[in-house]
Amino acid sequence: MKTAQVYQDKIIIKDAEDIKLEGRKGAIVRVLGCGLCGSDIVKFKHKIVHDGAVLGHEIVAEILEINSDTDFKAGDKIVTSHHIPCGECNYCRHGNVSMCLHFKQTNIFPGGFSEKVFVSEEHLKKVAYRVPAGISDEEISFYEPLGCCIRAIKRCNLQKGDTALVVGLGSIGLLMGEALKALGYKVFGCDLIPDRIALANKMGIQAFNSRNLDEFDTIIKDRTQDYGVDAVFMTSGADKAIETALKTVRQGGKILVFSSTPNNNGYPNNEIYYKELTVMGSYSPSPADLKDSFNLLTSGGVNSRGVNVKGLTTVYPLEDIQQAFDDTISNKIFKAYIQISE
Ligand SMILES: [Zn+2]
Ligand SMILES: [Zn+2]
Repeated sequence: MKTAQVYQDKIIIKDAEDIKLEGRKGAIVRVLGCGLCGSDIVKFKHKIVHDGAVLGHEIVAEILEINSDTDFKAGDKIVTSHHIPCGECNYCRHGNVSMCLHFKQTNIFPGGFSEKVFVSEEHLKKVAYRVPAGISDEEISFYEPLGCCIRAIKRCNLQKGDTALVVGLGSIGLLMGEALKALGYKVFGCDLIPDRIALANKMGIQAFNSRNLDEFDTIIKDRTQDYGVDAVFMTSGADKAIETALKTVRQGGKILVFSSTPNNNGYPNNEIYYKELTVMGSYSPSPADLKDSFNLLTSGGVNSRGVNVKGLTTVYPLEDIQQAFDDTISNKIFKAYIQISE
């Protein structure tokens, strides 16, 4: 089977030995396609993975061979995420599922950018879903990233009609905006790149250029009865984003950290204290968040509050995966979807 493997600063398509079930519980799936995640980019750019590693986890796949107590069967088209919490450890009991050791250790094998993947019985039982008709592979590939957004939103514990600002309108920022809208919140967005701002507005997010921070702050205050927004979602990896958040968040508001920043700058102690701000992180989704994500994505149709992810992806064949990485890194595209088989 063909796999895309990382070697230093390149991604090379290599033939690997076909993966087999060999009596294990679980399924061998044929990967139809796999979304390219921001975390894949970080792992590649900062050389966090060993040579030969296969990245990718946002898979849409067809079951080829299965040995399972679930009711999935060969021929089913499924989506699955890659990590599963144990549900019992101290982290899990406190809701910090993505810190769970079992969560970190579980994965699909060898990785999503591969013609075939092994999906364990535990995946099938807890985080896999059959894809219904009427949704494209590219759209349903947002299952795991949308789950990440839903988890972040839930952590903010917003009230109906609350206002939110998404700082950074790359693919994950736009997805966050879509999720916030679908869950009934009023969404603003900002970025420095005009194309991103334009697409956000087209998607129904009131988006602005935040280059002139005072001007942008005036716009936000105008639209929030002078309060500022109830929550800011930091999907931008720029250090300047912190300043934007502090300026536009209301007193007592929340800042949700959803990205790393190059200089690892902190939030100022005194502003957190005097304004009674809550600054918190959100990393990876729980099975419950993923279930919400699946339901939001598949609840299309009239009057539905479903999430619209059409037009966010650019499709690349597996052979061009290096180009997909390069184009994502240079902000040429929003989100790459690697098509692996028809
Ligand atoms: Zn992802
Ligand atoms: Zn656990």
